[in-house]
Amino acid sequence: MTYPNEAELLAKVPTQLFIGGEWVDGDEPAFAVNDPATGEELTKVANATPEQGIKALDAAVAAQDDFAKMPARQRAEILRKAWEILMERRDEMAMLMTLEMGKPLAEAQGEVNYGGEFLRWFAEEAVRVNGRYGQTPEGNGQMIVSKHPLGPCFLITPWNFPLAMATRKIAPAIAAGCTCVVKPASLTPLTTLFMVKILEEAGLPKGVVNVVTTRNTGGVSSPIIADRRLRKLSFTGSTGVGQKLMQEATQNVLRTSMELGGNAPFVVFEDADLDKAVDGVIAAKFRNIGQACTAANRVLVHESIADEFTQKVADVVKGYKLGRGTEEGVTIGPLVEQKAVDKVAELVDDAVANGAEIVVGGKRVEGPGSFYEATVLKNVTPEHKIFNEEIFGPVLPIVTFKDEDEAVRLANDTEYGLMSYVFTEDFKRGQRMIDLLETGMMGLNVGVLSNAAAPFGGVKMSGIGREGSHEGIEEYLYTKYTMTPNPFA
Ligand code: NAP
Repeated sequence: MTYPNEAELLAKVPTQLFIGGEWVDGDEPAFAVNDPATGEELTKVANATPEQGIKALDAAVAAQDDFAKMPARQRAEILRKAWEILMERRDEMAMLMTLEMGKPLAEAQGEVNYGGEFLRWFAEEAVRVNGRYGQTPEGNGQMIVSKHPLGPCFLITPWNFPLAMATRKIAPAIAAGCTCVVKPASLTPLTTLFMVKILEEAGLPKGVVNVVTTRNTGGVSSPIIADRRLRKLSFTGSTGVGQKLMQEATQNVLRTSMELGGNAPFVVFEDADLDKAVDGVIAAKFRNIGQACTAANRVLVHESIADEFTQKVADVVKGYKLGRGTEEGVTIGPLVEQKAVDKVAELVDDAVANGAEIVVGGKRVEGPGSFYEATVLKNVTPEHKIFNEEIFGPVLPIVTFKDEDEAVRLANDTEYGLMSYVFTEDFKRGQRMIDLLETGMMGLNVGVLSNAAAPFGGVKMSGIGREGSHEGIEEYLYTKYTMTPNPFA
């Protein structure tokens, strides 16, 4: 891998709005994007006004009819070409994500692969949108069921996986024949801008994808959502903001997809292969510095193996190297901003004040940058705040249980239902967990399971809809039923 010089890379990344195929300045003063490892400014990006948000929607609306008519194979080729260009620029994209978001370079490389796969997967799905044909049961007609692009979409993405969260929405929209306005998180807009430049180079027609970056997030988003020409809102982010956007979306009865927060249980039964469970929990917890909606948030361990498991996990965590993600050997980068460090510190302090015990870590690291030590806590109970809230940081809380019933009760004791992990060598017990855990996804003896070919999404307050897989393109299509008379009657 040959990583680019930081200044040269930043000089290549667009920092303007992308509207109707043109790169344009924002009408408000540009805002800073900072490196969370140093607190220093990387660059400034355009700051859109509400009027510019509507201009972006105008462009998406103007491009919609022609784009829907473009043969699926052509749309597929554009996505495929974009994937090829991304793979050629993988080191640049990885470095850019590390700079603006903080994850270690090796993990950023992993995200280039994962995020890129949505381009390749949906290039393949674009040509497989099928309907159905049949006779009415009464024999009086023929029934045709067809699929059609929904129309202009508004896609809002978070900062934690800045590439994958964008391609997981943009690629199926393009594959289905929908145009869109994308609003990336203000903390990490550069990755999306760099990705959209790649789509432009791959031959995407003007106006199909438009990008607005803004500090006036609600002010720019609300008028787009309220506009009757919009047909779909797809959001990934916190449950609180998702609820607010769902309320706004009721105005025009918009189709919505909501990928929201999580509070994943990681259950280790007494019959688990302990070493595999340790590897699994390390990956499920510390990937992305704990800032993943799928992160193991509550580690539930059978009381008979809790001490041994805790020791093994602590031994790994003690070896972690904290630092800027661009440095060799760093495993724990910064949290995305100081506010995130404050939240993690508050949750740990509350648990410790109420009886939890720090095994490793447990402290914020003085600046520059927004760092918190990789931490293992034991003696955590369901009464602690940390059990009930999404931590979004490198803290692994261990809770013990006595039997399977208690494990299931604890695992489901949350309003969220995105991801669960179970480690057991008892096949029947694993099968029971598939039925009993209230979750959209489950890792049975694995700690990382995201894949472009898998339907990603949650139940309960973790959201509505699925991204990736065959289901992912359906979110951008509507079903039409047509009846014609029986030609033999
Ligand atoms: P967030 O604060 O909800 O922000 C997500 C996006 O929503 C950002 O682009 C943000 O823009 C925008 N936003 C905020 N307020 C808005 C408003 N009033 N109107 C329109 N847009 C608004 O979440 P986050 O802190 O970036 O991300 C962390 C959360 O995302 C966690 O809860 C995590 O679990 C969840 N997440 C879920 C999934 C999943 O697939 N289920 C995946 C990743 C993350 P600004 O940046 O400008 O504020």
